[in-house]
Amino acid sequence: LKALSKYDPIKDAPWKKGQVVPYMALAKTFERIEETSRRLLIIENLTNLFRSVIVLSPADLVTCIYLSINKIGPSYSGKELGIGESILMKAVSESTGRTMDSIKQEAKDAGDLGIVAQSSRTTQQTMFPLPPLTIKSKDLIKKLLVACKDCEAMYIIRSLQGKLRIGLAEGSVITALSRAITITPNDNTLDVRKSISPEEFQAKVEKAIASITRAYSQTPNYDTLVPLLLKENGVDTILETCKLRVGIPVKPMLAQPTNGISQVLDRFQDLEFTCEYKYDGERVQIHRHDDGKVKIYTRNLEDYTGKYPDIIANIPKFMGSEVKNFILDCEAVAFDPTNKKILPFQILSSRPRKGVSLDQIKIPVCVFAFDLLYLNGTSLIDEQLSRRREVLKSNFNESEGVFSYAQYSNISDVAEIQAYIEEAVKANCEGLMVKTFKEKSIYEPSKRSYNWLKIKKDYLKGMTDSVDIVPIGAWYGKGKRTGVYGAYLLACYDEDNEDFQTLCKIGTGFSDEQLQQFTEQLTPHIIQNPKNMYRVSEQLKPDVWFSPKQVWEVLAADLSISPIHTAAAGTLDPVKGIALRFPRFIRIREDKNPEDATNTSQINGQINEVGTCEQSSQTMPTSQ
Ligand code: ATP
Repeated sequence: LKALSKYDPIKDAPWKKGQVVPYMALAKTFERIEETSRRLLIIENLTNLFRSVIVLSPADLVTCIYLSINKIGPSYSGKELGIGESILMKAVSESTGRTMDSIKQEAKDAGDLGIVAQSSRTTQQTMFPLPPLTIKSKDLIKKLLVACKDCEAMYIIRSLQGKLRIGLAEGSVITALSRAITITPNDNTLDVRKSISPEEFQAKVEKAIASITRAYSQTPNYDTLVPLLLKENGVDTILETCKLRVGIPVKPMLAQPTNGISQVLDRFQDLEFTCEYKYDGERVQIHRHDDGKVKIYTRNLEDYTGKYPDIIANIPKFMGSEVKNFILDCEAVAFDPTNKKILPFQILSSRPRKGVSLDQIKIPVCVFAFDLLYLNGTSLIDEQLSRRREVLKSNFNESEGVFSYAQYSNISDVAEIQAYIEEAVKANCEGLMVKTFKEKSIYEPSKRSYNWLKIKKDYLKGMTDSVDIVPIGAWYGKGKRTGVYGAYLLACYDEDNEDFQTLCKIGTGFSDEQLQQFTEQLTPHIIQNPKNMYRVSEQLKPDVWFSPKQVWEVLAADLSISPIHTAAAGTLDPVKGIALRFPRFIRIREDKNPEDATNTSQINGQINEVGTCEQSSQTMPTSQ
C-alpha cells in the first residue's frame, strides 16, 4: 500500500499523454486485483490506474470503468456482454491455428477459456509486429486475439464471456473513482495529498464517495456522470449537475425488515410515520417523457417496457391534465376485475418480459403508486414523503383496477396497526410498509433505509424475513434424482469482503420440474475454481461450483450458529458462522442480481432481533 501511495500518474503509466489507454494497462491492473483479496489493495491499484487515465487520456475513463465492471453500458440499456462460448472458441482457434477439439478439451480441463486463450497465444506466429491493443478495439475478436500479449487474451476472453471474475465489485470501482478524482482531480494537481493534512484528505475522500454514490444512484450511467465529475469542481457540484432525469432509472429505495409492531415503534420513537399496504407484485418505475414516450424499469433497473403495454395504454386514464412528465415508483399487481381482487404475484411472473401485445393480455395489472420522484421537470426526492404524497394525489387520479395510490393510514396506536396489518393481509398484501412521513423522510435512492420498515405477515411467525440468496454449488442427485442436482449450496453476499459466504444446503422442497429446470439453467455456469469469490469451509465441498447467476428466495424456521457455514463468521462467534435452519425454496428472484442478495449485515440484523426477542445469541442452537 505504501508503494502504491507513491504512484506517479504520469511517470508510472505505461503510455503517454494523449494516447488511447493501452489495454495492457487495464489487464495488468486486473491481474494485480485478481492476485489479492485485500480490499484496500484492490482499490488502490484501480485508483492509480484511474489517476493516470484522468491525467493522460481522460476521454477513456468511462470505457475503463465499464471494462472494470465487465459491462459495455448501463444495465438499463440492455447492452450486455456474454458472447457464446463456441464463437469465442472459434476465434481462439482461428487466431492461433489450434484445432477446436484441443481447445475444447483444454477449456474443459482448465474450466476457463480465458486461460486457454492466454496459453494458446504463446504458440501463435505473427508475420509482422502488430500495433499495441487499445481499449477501443472491442469489436473484432479475432483481430484482438492475434494482437494480444501477456495476460491480455485471458481478460479479453473473460470479458467477452461476461465472466471477468477478478473479485472486483462495483462499490470498489466507485470508491476507486472517488479516490482517484480526489487525489488527482486534473493534470495540474497530480497529488492533492502533498498540500493537505491526512485528516483533511480523508474527509475529502469520504465526502466524494458519498456524493458520487448518491449521484450515481440517481443517474446510474457513467457516460453521463464521469464527464461531469471531470469538470472543474466536478465532485463538489455533482449533486447539482447530475440530477434525476426522465428516461434514466433511479436505483430504488429499499426497506429494513422488522419483527413486528413494537420494533417499529422503538425505531421511530418520536418520528411521525405512515403505514401503507405492502403489495406483492413487481416493482415498476414508470418514466413518462414530454412527448408521451414511456419507459418502465424494474427494481434492478432493467427495461421492462415491453412487458406492460397495458400500463402504458392506461396512463391517460390516471395522469392529470397538468402533467407533462413524471417518474412514479409503484408496485404492479395482477388484478381480477370481476371480483375486484388482488391476485398472487405468480400470475404476473408468467407474463413474458418482452414483446407482449395488448390483445395477448388475459390478466390485467393494477398499478399501486407509493411514491412520486419527479414531476414536470422537477426532482421531488429531496422533499418529505408527506409533500410527495400530496403532489402525487393532486396530479394523478385513481381509476379502479387500473391505478390506485397505495392504501395508507397515518396511525400510530399498536392495536390500530395490528388491525391494519390484518386488513392488508385479507386484501392479499404481504403486510405493511411503515415509513417516516414528515421529518427524515426524503427519498433515498439505492439505500436500504431505516426510514422504511416492513412488517410482513411471515415475520410474525418466526424468522424476520425470507432471504434472497445465491446458489454457488451443487451435489449430484442419487436414486430418483440421478441426472439432476439433488442439493444446492447457498450463500449470502458480504459487501465488505465482496465475497459470497455460505448459509445453508437445500435438498428438499423442490418439485421434479424445478430440479430439472435449475440443472439446465445452472450447468452452463459451472466454474472450476471459485478462488476469492466464495468463502466456504473445508467440510463443505459440492460436486460442482457455479458462478453467481441466480438469486433464490428462501424461507427458514430460524437462524443458528454453525461450525460449517461461513456467513458473517467472526461477528457473533469468533470463528463460527450463521446458518439457516430448515430452509425451504420459495421462488427465483428474477429482479435481483447476485450482488443484491441478502447481505451478511442483514443476516446479522435478523439474528440480533431473534436474539433479543426470543432467545439470547449465546443459547442459540448449533446447526449442521
Ligand atoms: P421483498 O422480498 O420484501 O420484496 P426486497 O429486497 O425486494 O424485499 P424491500 O425493500 O425489502 O425489497 O421491500 C420493499 C419492496 O416491497 C419494494 O421493492 C416494492 O417492490 C414492494 N412494495 C409493495 N408495497 C410497497 C409500498 N407501499 N411501499 C414501498 N414498497 C412497496
